[in-house]
Amino acid sequence: MHKSDVGLVGLAVMGRNLALNMLTKGYRVSVYNRTPGRVDDFLRAQGNNVTGTYSLPELVNSLKTPKIILLMIRAGEAVDNIIDRLVPLLNKGDLLIDGGNSFFRDTIRRTQALGKAGILFLGAGISGGEEGALKGPSIMLGGSSCGWEQAAPLLRAISARAPDGTACCAYFGSDGAGHYVKMVHNGIEYAFMQAIAECYFIMKRLLKMPAEKIGHTFTQWNRGKLSSYLIEITGHIFSRIDGESGKPLVELILDLAEQNDTGKWAAAEALNLGVPLSNIAEAVFIRYLSALKEERTAAARLFNSPLREGFPKKEDEEKNKDIKDEDEETNISDLENALYATMIISYAQGFALLGKAALQYGWYLNASEIASVWRAGCIIRARLLDTIIDAYQIKPKAKNMLLMPAFKEILPGLTTGWRKVICLSVQEGVAAPVMASALGYFDMYLTDYLPTNLVQAQRDYFGSHGYKRIDQEGLFHTRWL
Ligand code: NAP
Repeated sequence: MHKSDVGLVGLAVMGRNLALNMLTKGYRVSVYNRTPGRVDDFLRAQGNNVTGTYSLPELVNSLKTPKIILLMIRAGEAVDNIIDRLVPLLNKGDLLIDGGNSFFRDTIRRTQALGKAGILFLGAGISGGEEGALKGPSIMLGGSSCGWEQAAPLLRAISARAPDGTACCAYFGSDGAGHYVKMVHNGIEYAFMQAIAECYFIMKRLLKMPAEKIGHTFTQWNRGKLSSYLIEITGHIFSRIDGESGKPLVELILDLAEQNDTGKWAAAEALNLGVPLSNIAEAVFIRYLSALKEERTAAARLFNSPLREGFPKKEDEEKNKDIKDEDEETNISDLENALYATMIISYAQGFALLGKAALQYGWYLNASEIASVWRAGCIIRARLLDTIIDAYQIKPKAKNMLLMPAFKEILPGLTTGWRKVICLSVQEGVAAPVMASALGYFDMYLTDYLPTNLVQAQRDYFGSHGYKRIDQEGLFHTRWL
């Protein structure tokens, strides 16, 4: 029997498509899944160059030496469980890659434990969802450098290609570095998704635009500075009509956003490292708030909320004829600027967290390289990344993207529209918390004197914590009463 080049554990949506991707690139693959039916299904669909296995010993025995095994299973205990069962079957120099959304601290722990057993371990953040896994995801790696050397040809072969042909796959340092970069990627993704959703609601609730027009606007935006995967798919989503009701499908979806843990970890990590990641944290909180559906419904009734469900009805459209086309165009262009600025701030916050993490954990987190790996295959791929790459190449050690000349050029031109959108949303009660939070961050970051002098005075008043003065050296305390 031919031995396989690589083993893959977990044949759910990601594992199955990554296996297909590897097969397309000419690798021979052995597959294993806890529930054997998934192996049978895979073999039925794809027979050539695949070995189906029904136990971990069978999987390991089917591989060439040194063995490479990619785990694509649910993050958490399942990964520890499979590793514990694989380790006795492996030899020194064999390589395990965890391609799931594992918590970076788990990856640090696993790298250390496996290193003691002589097993090479890589934590791989893989982004791109179902389609990316099949056609080429973006892959962010950390862990054993020998493991990286061993797996680099395979991982580069299956990863996405940026427009200049470079593989969107890179190694960022020891143990948890790759999963950390993926965690921040997902945090940025949460912020984009929420900001896009806020634009949708402003178009729907305030500009009274029907779904078709909203979809058309996103499609138009995708041709300009906002060009990105998430804007592109949002345009597609609005064009999908439910076969039964004839309504836009998106309007029939329950407004309760679920999540995996990566956004929450990014926000918690920012709190731990003392990095302002307000946009991303806000987006995570909004998902929690959305989950309080029953409470929200009760509150809407209690306060007799004027914001009703559904798209504007025909009679409303008539009533709103006074929103002239030119007005709408101005509003749409303001909205586009607000979203673009929010996108910039979300990246800025994400990269600031990565910069702090590099110092904290001793990783090589080169911002330009990270932006480069995000150019294709992943969920936050966007035209803006080209500007970020260039900016970080000029100033690789910049503490924040906002301190770079490129963004000094771009941001002032966006602020008028951005402020108008936030004013409108506040005035009309259609909340845009992520776009507003981004503006708050921007205004406060660009201020060399914040009202936190008062906070220091209050701390000294009730806790004798002391304060520094702007006109004298030293630590001062006042008996305020
Ligand atoms: P998933 O729904 O996260 O996990 C299902 C897979 O995990 C199945 O193969 C399942 O086996 C296996 N599994 C669960 N518990 C197990 C256990 N205790 N022991 C052994 N196997 C176990 O699958 P997915 O969506 O394909 O994602 C795989 C990984 O990639 C996850 O870490 C996910 O967070 C990450 N990821 C997903 C996406 C995405 O868009 N879906 C994108 C990027 C990264 P059974 O068939 O036996 O249940």
